[in-house]
Amino acid sequence: MSGAQGTEGAASALFPTYARFPIALVKGQGSWLWDDQGNKYLDFMCGLAVTNLGHVPAQVKEALVKQLDELWHVSNLFGIPGQEEAARLLTENSHAGAVFFCNSGAEANEAAIKLARRYNKNVLKNGRYEIITFKQSFHGRTLATLTATGQDKVKDGFDPLPPGFVTVPLHDEQALREAITDKTAAIMLEMVQAEGGIITVDPAFVKTIVRLCEAHGLLLIVDEVQTGMGRTGKLFAFQHYGIEPDIFTLAKGLGSGFPVGAMLAKSGLAEAFGPGSHASTFGGTPIAMAAVKATIETMLAENAPQRAAESGEYLKSRLKEKLAGSPIVREVRGLGLIVGIECAEPVAGFVSEIHRRGLLVVTAGPNVIRLLPNLLVTREEIDLAVDILAGVLTGQAAAAQS
Ligand SMILES: *Cc1c(COP(=O)(O)O)cnc(C)c1O
Repeated sequence: MSGAQGTEGAASALFPTYARFPIALVKGQGSWLWDDQGNKYLDFMCGLAVTNLGHVPAQVKEALVKQLDELWHVSNLFGIPGQEEAARLLTENSHAGAVFFCNSGAEANEAAIKLARRYNKNVLKNGRYEIITFKQSFHGRTLATLTATGQDKVKDGFDPLPPGFVTVPLHDEQALREAITDKTAAIMLEMVQAEGGIITVDPAFVKTIVRLCEAHGLLLIVDEVQTGMGRTGKLFAFQHYGIEPDIFTLAKGLGSGFPVGAMLAKSGLAEAFGPGSHASTFGGTPIAMAAVKATIETMLAENAPQRAAESGEYLKSRLKEKLAGSPIVREVRGLGLIVGIECAEPVAGFVSEIHRRGLLVVTAGPNVIRLLPNLLVTREEIDLAVDILAGVLTGQAAAAQS
């Protein structure tokens, strides 16, 4: 057992907010991680869809080291050239016209919610503030974003929650229509519900959402915190659907592991966030911007989204083939390199055994094993991961579990 729960014999001085795996990781390179006992792991979770270019990618490291020598932090009261450049890279590679940089996914979604409210209140002056979200969604842990989240477990004990959110079942057109009132400002969703179990939103339902937004003058907000930055096989998952959300949010893969988030919107919404309306001390520091610029440039140069699309197809087909006889596996699904293996029973025990065999994966809800390899993962690494997964999830190993 490693030191993940604190030094042997001493209680941890941390809040017990995480049910941590008994592994303490100390080094990473590309697709591989090493723990404090010298064990090596193939990483198919990427710090939860963060290290999309693998661990310590050379180009991002070089940009960070260079920036560390020059300037770390000033203030958003000054011009920050790197922020302008990073914003331009994001707008040149999407339909967005304006970017706000922050530090995390929850903050990016908080900014999206604030922008939607303020645009309705101060620009359209229509008194609308309510945001419709979907069951099983996940949007973050701040009070507003946990209220937006369609899962009760993240809300437990945090009453009273801020008003202005309504949650309806995904793919339920009638419930969505009935939820729209003269108070509705926006509809917010993930194109692939990630924490919710790797549920890709049906294109027909997305068409319905877009039509309803147009008919009722609602803003469309897409949470790309987990699905963005090439993960699904396009730079942003909404690009699979041919839609242009009014607002979308990024974080996890945006800085290759350097903490940074962004809220992006069509240029028409920029005026709603005038001077003094929103801010973040650490949002868009020179160091964070060096990480963002190098991450995007490397992704484009390496064709990372396209590679994620191809590797995702390969991973899914290999899994379907090798897991075909498993009595436990119900479905293999996903988009690009966000892949779920739904099982007929809780998977926590399988995940521990998979870790023990040297492959790091994570769950997405009680019955789904979630695979999030880096976007540059090789076929050999995929084959190795599939062998480990098949070893644990086919009949023999399963019998050993019970
Ligand atoms: C992780 C996640 C968030 C929250 O991001 P944090 O950086 O942890 O605040 C929000 N939305 C989605 C879809 C996520 O996966």
